[in-house]
Amino acid sequence: MNEKSKLKLAQLRQYQSLSLNGVERLSEIRIREALDRFENQAYVAFSGGLNSTILLDMVWKINPNIPAVFVDTGLEYPEIREFVKTYGDRVTWIKPEMSFAEVIKKYGFPVASKQVSDYVHRVRHTKSDQVRRRHLKGENADGSPSRMSQLAIKWQPLINAPFECSHRCCHIMKVKPFHQYFKKERRYPLIGTMAGESRSRLIDYMKSGCNAFDKKDPQSRPMMFWTHQHCLEYLRKYDLPICSVYGEQEFRDGEWVLTGEQRTGCMFCMFGVQFDEVNRFQRMYYTHPKQWNYCINTLGCGAVMDFIGVKYKPEGEQMAHTTVTKPPSPADQSRLKGISKAIEVVTKGKVPYVESNDRCQICDRPCVGKHCDYHKELIRNGDI
Ligand code: SF4
Repeated sequence: MNEKSKLKLAQLRQYQSLSLNGVERLSEIRIREALDRFENQAYVAFSGGLNSTILLDMVWKINPNIPAVFVDTGLEYPEIREFVKTYGDRVTWIKPEMSFAEVIKKYGFPVASKQVSDYVHRVRHTKSDQVRRRHLKGENADGSPSRMSQLAIKWQPLINAPFECSHRCCHIMKVKPFHQYFKKERRYPLIGTMAGESRSRLIDYMKSGCNAFDKKDPQSRPMMFWTHQHCLEYLRKYDLPICSVYGEQEFRDGEWVLTGEQRTGCMFCMFGVQFDEVNRFQRMYYTHPKQWNYCINTLGCGAVMDFIGVKYKPEGEQMAHTTVTKPPSPADQSRLKGISKAIEVVTKGKVPYVESNDRCQICDRPCVGKHCDYHKELIRNGDI
């Protein structure tokens, strides 16, 4: 890492350690800068999730005429769609040109990570030996090593899987509809992403900062230096309603936690599903059996997860693609509570909450080195 990057990272860490008032003030400055630069020709990319709910609140305090735009991909939790509807006509709904079913039929499933799906797709469809060598052996054309381009050994069996993998889903379902909105309205996006959410977002922040006016697609990300705790504190400070799928907020071990889903996003996405001890499909089995049935049995996500060895039913259940026809019974509901408890225990066991001033460079959680255990594993596997 060069000196400039080190300074930028140190500055990010400093911002992330600010109080809520501090990050709020900074974000307000960034939002005002962006609205000035875009001459108010802007919109908030609204997903109904925590971050964009907060961003929308901050933006509307400054300029209530800025529109919010929601992409109705058909992949959101039903509760998220209902929550977005509560904003009435203040939110513009747009749709992708294809459904998720059409995307996976035409291009393939999003599996493991964007990079893994992309490499698998390329190797399966290339006629070039050089491309195959680069992604399978991690070798450049001149024979020099290219480790970052290598598909991790554990994912190489996907090359011969009886289904296709592709990274194109996000582009078709999310990026393209926003591009089309831009073309029609000539409005630039304000987006509620945070650098601590993933390595790619951290890298993006390091390159372009919050207000990325020089990017090919100019945009503003005024919450880049926020942490999850800042978000939860903001919700409490302003008593801002959030989608019911997140559950309640509780104060435990010195920090605020959500009792429901921690992140929402696309219900049927298999990116990152291999890392969760209790993954979203296992929770969905109880909470959204109809959607579970559709994605596991009708769309075929069950067969994909069988292939990669990821469970999609709670432990102890039969693993075949059995059809769930009934809503969860009271006994199942109470087991669901047990699953939430398990997630808590597992999360605490996996991420070392040690007394340390060192923070993971990606998610800012406490760690004993550069990254917490979770992100160390992602990096080791070549998934981020
Ligand atoms: S997050 Fe996953 S399911 Fe959602 S659009 Fe992107 S690839 Fe598709």
